[in-house]
Amino acid sequence: MMNFNRTTAQWQELDRDHHTHPFSDPKALGEKGTRVITKAEGSYIWDSDDNKILDGMAGLWCVNVGYGRTELIEAADRQMRQLPYYNSFFQTSNPPQIELSRLLSEVTPEGFNHFFFAGSGSEANDTNVRLVRHYWDIKGQPKKKTFISRHNAYHGSTLAATSLGGMGYMHNMGGEGGSLLPGFEHIGQPFWYLEGGDMTPEEFGLMRAQELETKILELGADSVAAFIAEPIQGAGGVIVPPATYWPEIQRICKKYDILLIADEVICGFGRTGNWFGSETMGIKPDLITMAKGLSSGYLPIAAIGMQDDFFAVLNGGGDINHGYTYSGHPVASAVAIANIHYIRDHNLVEKVREDTGPYLHAGLQHLVDSHPIVGEVRGRGLMAGIQLVKDKASRTTFSGDEDAGTVCRDHCFSNNLIMRGVGQSMIISPPLTISRIEIDELLAKAKICLDATGRDFGLM
Ligand SMILES: *Cc1c(COP(=O)(O)O)cnc(C)c1O
Repeated sequence: MMNFNRTTAQWQELDRDHHTHPFSDPKALGEKGTRVITKAEGSYIWDSDDNKILDGMAGLWCVNVGYGRTELIEAADRQMRQLPYYNSFFQTSNPPQIELSRLLSEVTPEGFNHFFFAGSGSEANDTNVRLVRHYWDIKGQPKKKTFISRHNAYHGSTLAATSLGGMGYMHNMGGEGGSLLPGFEHIGQPFWYLEGGDMTPEEFGLMRAQELETKILELGADSVAAFIAEPIQGAGGVIVPPATYWPEIQRICKKYDILLIADEVICGFGRTGNWFGSETMGIKPDLITMAKGLSSGYLPIAAIGMQDDFFAVLNGGGDINHGYTYSGHPVASAVAIANIHYIRDHNLVEKVREDTGPYLHAGLQHLVDSHPIVGEVRGRGLMAGIQLVKDKASRTTFSGDEDAGTVCRDHCFSNNLIMRGVGQSMIISPPLTISRIEIDELLAKAKICLDATGRDFGLM
């Protein structure tokens, strides 16, 4: 049996001595010590010192149905006993992956009826790269290989997903451009608050969308395969494009025969108040990437959805020489099915759209109106970014050295609230099951942490 009875200090020591963490400086983290999370229920997690912490991030944007749901747990238990694993390579299939595909065709936007499974969002985006190049090759345009994305986009951490993404510090792991593959290009992001200058949001949104056209013309439309974007950028800081942005992107993709991939890994499964962010933002993509909320993080699973016209080309194009040992893993698929039923049976999408989403945003808007270091709040549904500023009138944010985001995040840590700092924004993305009373607690704690941050910088 695994020994769960260790003290916090013992766990931290073992963690430092044997476990290397993602997106962390091993030495600094080893000296500081990790926080050891031991259990969870509903919207709360507990650490090894028995602190009860409100999880304002739903894990990593993924625990959409909240923790401890017996429906998902029992689905996993049943499927493990029935058939814990079988592959789908050798002309074999299994009921959970078939049923999940059918269910996805019901909840995804119209025209999405075919699904390919992977183990993570990163793998799913790798799959997009491979299938899209295959698609253009079948269509007799093998030169169409280049992908265009945006600076500060997040599409995952494998080599292809890192390259699709726009995080400079990830591209430069392994030296300048050391993690950036050829064939991946980036344009500006539609982040008006920081980059819009004197333009109106509408003018700025149009300008940023037109950078896509400029880039396509520069590269030659006959070499561009696809444009990929999150409907609302998540890890970049919850960036909602101005209303002019998406229609222009859509027009440009159509004009130059470029595929449009919506990375719905965060926006999917109710986060923005619709099943998919594409519906919230009025986008008609050719492909959608799903992960996180697909299983509420209970087990790793991801999928890409293919629009009918896209699939029709693959269907007749010969072998798809791609797949993973765990593509359509039966237990993960069974959990994803239970998760989708849970979202449906509890009307979570409608609840986010009509009740808890507006309630959260009304509370956050109050901070914009009253708090000296809150410049704006962005987001839709249960997804929000609080922009920290030194001066509201001039939209002056804190510098990277001042790093108000990390200062505020540390205050959240000591006040038993999980809010993530991204640059100079604080991120909120709680379970979709969060109640109004829990949202009140979240807002009250957030205010305490913002006050403390304001005092640290002598701004209040
Ligand atoms: C998290 C995320 C990914 C990567 O998913 P992993 O499961 O971590 O590989 C891809 N795209 C977006 C938009 C994400 O937020």
